[in-house]
Parts: sequence; C-alpha cells; structure tokens
Amino acid sequence: MKFTYLGTSASEAVPAVFCECDMCNEARRRGGRDLRTRSCAVINDDLMLDFGPEAYVQSVRFGIHLSKIKSLFITHPHADHFQMNNFALRGGFWGMNLTEDMLTVYGGKEVYEKMQDFIATGREVVTPHFACEKLTAFNPVTAGDYKIIPLRAAHDPSIECFVYLIENLKDGKRVLYLHDTENDIDDSIDFIKGMHCDLVSFDCTCGNTFVQPGQRHMGLKNDILVRDKLIEKGVIDSSTVLICNHICHHVGLYDDLSRIAMAEGFYLSYDGMTFTL
Ligand SMILES: [Zn+2]
Ligand SMILES: [Zn+2]
Ligand SMILES: [Zn+2]
Repeated sequence: MKFTYLGTSASEAVPAVFCECDMCNEARRRGGRDLRTRSCAVINDDLMLDFGPEAYVQSVRFGIHLSKIKSLFITHPHADHFQMNNFALRGGFWGMNLTEDMLTVYGGKEVYEKMQDFIATGREVVTPHFACEKLTAFNPVTAGDYKIIPLRAAHDPSIECFVYLIENLKDGKRVLYLHDTENDIDDSIDFIKGMHCDLVSFDCTCGNTFVQPGQRHMGLKNDILVRDKLIEKGVIDSSTVLICNHICHHVGLYDDLSRIAMAEGFYLSYDGMTFTL
C-alpha cells in the first residue's frame, strides 16, 4: 500500500496566500519542503482523501492521474478540503478517455447535498461522471479494494466532519487519517480498538504547542496525547509510521519543526512525501 501526501498545509497554505509575515517570506525564500499546498492525500493510485483548491496542480506535479481515482473521501466541506470547481471537467469534451468512468464521492451530510446539487444541475452541460454516497459515523463502507470506517471528528460542530480509517483489503494495511480534529475523539479511538494501523496522519495545525479544547485543531502536545491513547487501545505500536500534518504558517520552518517532531517519534509531512507500507 502506497500513501502519498499531495498537499500538507492548513487552510491558508504556506506561505499563506496574502501573508507577508517573516515566516511566510522565509518559506518563499527557501522553497522546497517549506512550500505547502492545501491538504490532500492519495492511497495507491485510486483512492483520494480530500480535494482542495490545489488538487489539479498537485496531481500534475506528483504524477497522479485524476481519471484513475475511483473513490474520493471528503473529511469535511471546509474550503481547504473540498472544492468542486473542476468537477464539471470530468467528462465530455473536457475530460476524454476516462480510465474510471465514474468517480464516487463519499462524505457527510453537507458534502452529499452539495454533490447531489452538482450532479442534478451538471447534467444540463455535460453528464458528470460522478456518483455520491452519504456516510454516517461508525458505519463502514467498502469502496473497491478498501474498507473505510468514517469516525467522528471533533472539528466544526455546525457540519458533519469525519476522520477516516482506511484498510486495504488486498494487503491488510491500514491508514488512520486524522484531519481535521481536536484530541477529544475517545469514542472514535474506542471504536477501532485492536485494529492495528500502519500509518497515522495527525492534525498538527498549531505546531509545537498544546491546543485548548474548542480550537478545532491540534498541536504536537495534543498529538502525543492521541498517540498514547492509540497505543493503549492497541491501534498503533512501534512499527506504526506517525506523521504531523496540516501545518499552518505560524509554527516554524520545516527543519526546525521536523527536529522537534522527530524527537517525539513523528515525521513532519511535506508535499510529495510518500510511504510504501
Ligand atoms: Zn483544514
Ligand atoms: Zn505568514
Ligand atoms: Zn477544517
């Protein structure tokens, strides 16, 4: 099972779109791992997690053919995770010889409603090659070669937000994708008790800090709490790859934050980072 980050930033990107702070300008000067686009990941070449504002550019940069993606799981409909403005290009004159005729988009209530509206109105222009499926927390679905468990995220109480456990049924490998969320997800962790994961991607929006409840995200100190809970419940062990991801523009440059995260046993993500599990 191959896991690739296409984008690794929080909502504003790094450097942030309109920002002239010292951190953003140093990121502009250094380039490389200090340039982050909005969060998105791909498993093998057929399952995608989120579709943000840079999904098209990310796909070209990292050699991902979007027409091969069969299943797209949206964590929640915030603008850095869910953008539909390229969806009308999937079919007809604009999207020819699709590898997969249909792309199924999975998500909670608001994602499902937006997709249904799009499919209904899109038919006037081009038959959109999309299907959508509504998920509910703690009810697993099978999509192609994968079993996916949508778990409750503690993020934005006004919309339905999920974190996902993705299991590859072919090789038994599992990924836990914790975006976006606070650390108050004990019910979700209890639900996957004993299900060993090979990789966990943690919300680390706020860098090397502890984020108080109600702030919708985590920092490294919250990640450590979640990690310890996952160990206690038999979800992770010393063989599990742990990664800090969804990084904002206030938390330091790649090398500095990476050193701090590595000392606690976490990799720091960057756009294009790949793991073969
Ligand atoms: Zn986000
Ligand atoms: Zn900035
Ligand atoms: Zn969000």
